[in-house]
Amino acid sequence: MIELNDVSKVYSNGVKGLEDVNLKINKGEFVSIVGLSGAGKSTLLRSINRLIDISSGDIKIDEKSITSASEKQLRMIRRDIGMIFQSFNLVKRSSVLRNVLSGRVAYNNTLRTLLNLFPQKDVDLALKALERVNILDKAYTRSSELSGGQQQRVSIARTLAQEAKIILADEPTASLDPVTTKQVMDDLKKINTEDDVTVIINLHFVDLAKEYSTRIIGLQAGKVVFDGTPEEATSEV
Ligand code: ADP
Ligand code: ADP
Repeated sequence: MIELNDVSKVYSNGVKGLEDVNLKINKGEFVSIVGLSGAGKSTLLRSINRLIDISSGDIKIDEKSITSASEKQLRMIRRDIGMIFQSFNLVKRSSVLRNVLSGRVAYNNTLRTLLNLFPQKDVDLALKALERVNILDKAYTRSSELSGGQQQRVSIARTLAQEAKIILADEPTASLDPVTTKQVMDDLKKINTEDDVTVIINLHFVDLAKEYSTRIIGLQAGKVVFDGTPEEATSEV
């Protein structure tokens, strides 16, 4: 479970990214964070795995405080958290398979990676992940040669290879066309339901949030202004 208690973030220029946010997110939820540009969606998502430090309050994952965690504890907690970005964040000159393997945290920046030595069981896991998002045929292709939608599916496969328990996705479909958007959202939903992975996703469009999520959280100027089911969101408008 993810818990935010009285979380506020004030940036150095005085802007309040988040103000008194209290949330409990349970395992297996598919939560969409919606709100206009500048509402604090990205700040909220990045606070959860401490890509940014909050100014006050506390964030806990499975009872462990992210806010007061040591570097070592943070590394352990982050093993369970997969990140998906709008801009894919793949190593473009590397093969798809290598990008997916990088989800196996133990191989980040190690001599093994340099020497291209990966245990067969990790390679198998990565190939299986690619199969699940339907791009197994691209395993040995350079990532830069893929379309945007394919690149995003590689970054989803990376979280699968990581065996992440939580996926944080920051507007993952913002640069994709409607057809590819649907494929990416379907993949996330499949992982959510089949693997019981908690998905927290920032979305610009409420329609997508209503179609895919079990819960919608609305942000405005850093504050939670809506928290309910897609059905409740519909009756509000
Ligand atoms: P912090 O308060 O977390 O120290 P900084 O003010 O140092 O943040 O800015 C960190 C980064 O965010 C910088 O690269 C900066 O250019 C960028 N940044 C600054 N202002 C904004 C803004 N209003 N919206 C988005 N990014 C910003
Ligand atoms: P969203 O993801 O909903 O577009 P953000 O979380 O990026 O919103 O931003 C929330 C507010 O904080 C905005 O007013 C934004 O300009 C500001 N902001 C974001 N990052 C920074 C930063 N690094 N420094 C200063 N202000 C920032």
